[in-house]
Amino acid sequence: MTQPQIYLDNAATTALRPEALAAMMEFLQQNHANPSSVYGQAVAAKMALDAAATDIAAIIGASRREIYFTGSGTESINWALKSAAHMAKPHGNHIITTSIEHHAVLHTCQALEKEGFEVTYLAVDAHGMVCPAAFAAAVRPDTILASIMLANNEVGNILPVAEIAAKLKEINADRQYKILLHTDAVQAACHIPIDVAARGADLLSMSAHKLHGPKGVGALYIRRGVKLPPFIHGGGHERGRRAGTENVAGIVGFAAAAALAHAEMAAEAPRQAALRDNFIAKILQAVPHSRLNGHPTQRLPGNINITFDFIEGEGMLLLLDAKGIAASSGSACTSGSLDPSHVLLAMGVPHESAHGSLRLTLSKYTQSSDLDRLLEALPPIVARLRSMSPLWEDFQKKENTS
Ligand code: PLP
Repeated sequence: MTQPQIYLDNAATTALRPEALAAMMEFLQQNHANPSSVYGQAVAAKMALDAAATDIAAIIGASRREIYFTGSGTESINWALKSAAHMAKPHGNHIITTSIEHHAVLHTCQALEKEGFEVTYLAVDAHGMVCPAAFAAAVRPDTILASIMLANNEVGNILPVAEIAAKLKEINADRQYKILLHTDAVQAACHIPIDVAARGADLLSMSAHKLHGPKGVGALYIRRGVKLPPFIHGGGHERGRRAGTENVAGIVGFAAAAALAHAEMAAEAPRQAALRDNFIAKILQAVPHSRLNGHPTQRLPGNINITFDFIEGEGMLLLLDAKGIAASSGSACTSGSLDPSHVLLAMGVPHESAHGSLRLTLSKYTQSSDLDRLLEALPPIVARLRSMSPLWEDFQKKENTS
């Protein structure tokens, strides 16, 4: 299998960075000990896990004992939502989330609905933003939990989680059972600054493979004092809260990648944002009937999401692939299905337009020459697909007769 020459699908996953691989190799080759054992090698593995938790805590302003490693961002989210809901059941059964969450949140909420919980899915505006006042208005006497993502994986908008947390703090002041706030920070961690104290989240989910770490490793931040019950039962790993022999190499790789990405963020975020903004301005000018999806400024530095009217995103992806360019038409979890993105539909993008969206997500390895190549390749691809599109033909006829 040949690698794409230009990889612009970093929201789906990122390349493992060499420094993370180098850190992992020690625990794949030299030290295979179980960190729960007592001899020297095992103690070294346990110390590596502790150091990794310290590094991950530092990237979000948490303390080391508030970090728990999991098998993925999806597992962190399932743990946070299911355990928080079950724990709070005697106090109420209402949960608030948004209509643009990743399926890891939406499908977990649907599973909780089947158990009898009620879920409010907050509407978003045309930019995919949730209004903190609408959040406050949705709170009920029986509300126990809220889950609001920090940054959206499809359109890249950064949601006002800190403002929502501030509202929640006021609301919680008068309540006996305090509503917990979870935030899905899988796309945000190491891409935008996160300070859990300032954002006010009680629970926060992360994933290694979105920041040049390995796949199959995640972390859940649990604020000190939140007595979240375990989700996976077994041995006493992760201080009795997440059983299963630790993925030492994966966790060490996660921490190495996160520490580096966090240190590089101050320079890397503006570099990617400049590439993003330059590309958006040029492509919207080059292709008529194209529009940016998501918020114009409150968006992840590496996210570009454009709708090209009258065509199918899948066709664009195939023609780009033929030119060695890897891109996406939305979430990696929904591509492969012909359903348009639930995020775009929630933002009010019409069904036909939602089909013609293209998501390009950048990384530290993206160069301006990559986007220049795309700027050359994309307009003829859109023109070619439009030339075969009955929708475009109808539109042209209408234009000519009006
Ligand atoms: N949440 C968001 C916003 C994501 O983008 C993803 C992955 O695409 C996940 C959760 C799931 O993370 P993981 O792939 O580690 O299970």
